[in-house]
Amino acid sequence: MAITKTVRVRLAPSPTGEVHIGTIWMAQFNWLFARQHDGAFVLRIEDTDQNRLVPGSVEHIYEALDWYELQPDEGPLQGGPYGPYIQSQRLDFYRQYAYQLVEQGSGYYCFCTSERLAELRQMQTAAKQAPRYDKKCVAIPPEQSRARVAAGEPAVVRLNIPVHGTIVHHDLVRGNVTFALDVLDDSVLMKSDGWPTYHLAVVVDDHLMNISHVIRAEEWLPSVPKHLLLYRAFGWDAPIFAHLPLILGSDRQKLSKRHGATSALTFRDEGFLSEAMQNFLVLMGWHPKGNEEILSRQQVLKQFRLEQINQAGAFFDRAKLEWINGAYIRSLEPASLVERLAPWWHIPSGASVSAEWKLRAVKAVRERMKKLTDVNELINFAFPAVWDQEFSLFNRQLLIPPKGSERAVKDNLAWTAKWLAGQSEPWSAGELKKQMISAIAAAGRLNAEALWPLRVALTLRAASPDVFDMLELLGKTESLRRVRSFVS
Ligand code: GLU
Repeated sequence: MAITKTVRVRLAPSPTGEVHIGTIWMAQFNWLFARQHDGAFVLRIEDTDQNRLVPGSVEHIYEALDWYELQPDEGPLQGGPYGPYIQSQRLDFYRQYAYQLVEQGSGYYCFCTSERLAELRQMQTAAKQAPRYDKKCVAIPPEQSRARVAAGEPAVVRLNIPVHGTIVHHDLVRGNVTFALDVLDDSVLMKSDGWPTYHLAVVVDDHLMNISHVIRAEEWLPSVPKHLLLYRAFGWDAPIFAHLPLILGSDRQKLSKRHGATSALTFRDEGFLSEAMQNFLVLMGWHPKGNEEILSRQQVLKQFRLEQINQAGAFFDRAKLEWINGAYIRSLEPASLVERLAPWWHIPSGASVSAEWKLRAVKAVRERMKKLTDVNELINFAFPAVWDQEFSLFNRQLLIPPKGSERAVKDNLAWTAKWLAGQSEPWSAGELKKQMISAIAAAGRLNAEALWPLRVALTLRAASPDVFDMLELLGKTESLRRVRSFVS
């Protein structure tokens, strides 16, 4: 794709609640495109629908963009040459342009009451027609409507959409899309209270902020003909549009809460790594030529092409996300993994653990971790307080290896307790393994019969890290205490 203008892209969220993961997904493509072309990534808060505002949402947007490392170059916090970047602070612009449209005849004042509009809608629905405005007020002579407005009569400004013809739109992702104008509704551009609606505000701002490419969700594709008519009416060049496909859940339906978490910050709180999320999100709807699954931002910046986004839909595959996150976790140095775990690892109060102990614990479980929060389930049984609590609820059937028996378990654990008591500390996993395996053989026992119950006694889990790693981590006294609890 040949780019002739300075690239300026924007994310234009409405602060109406939690930040959806789709917003971040979109932000990422905007951000990547800006970085790839030495452009600017602009954040604009679209808060003109004051009834839908949810306090705290703007802060959530900032926080999410920060966590996903998609910092804007311009925006309410960063400032910039095209501010203000919050639409509620730009009302004068919209008023001025709405007025201009009316003057030109591309827009008109509409005085219809909400009762009339409701009636119209009812009639149209009864006649099985799509509800839309019937252009009644377009017929009012301009001097008359101007006089009525000047006299204080409430009026909205509507877009005067031609009743015939088509408009062809070239989309970077969707290709050519043709819209018939005769089915479009003369949308309200400015409400009677002087606040603009989305259509007017978005076009005015994308123009005034010099936006070159609008990369946004597919749900806005039907708005394109209205936007193009507005650009035409103002005599402005329209930006290039790229409409991203829908994000689909496991059942190939639009991703929603019933598929699990959809809020961008919930993934952070569930223990996903920011860099793994970034990797996952970019592979949703796009893949590199070589089909690699683990890609750094730098690699993505080299390979990503906006026009290669798959228009068929982006599948949100949670299992893949967990796999990617696990791969990132394993690639961390144990010491940095310990650091990253700090907010997630619930060390019981009163437990004193050394940095070295944490390192060993992390090395023992990191292969099994899919999320940072997994650390608690995977290793916290090592804390005596946790083990004691779980012991009281423990189902002893878990101690019995396949083909084993309760009696053999007791016998093996008694033998193991005795053998462990005879070993001296410090002990290491490697040495213990060597010694114990030959002692088991010498005692005429079977590895599975001896080691299975030992591992379960130490961890209280059917699946757990290696038994010798656990002996080393727990130390002699605590290991013996656990084994003996099952023997006496
Ligand atoms: N404020 C719109 C939204 O909530 C932005 C649509 C657009 O990008 O044009 O998503």
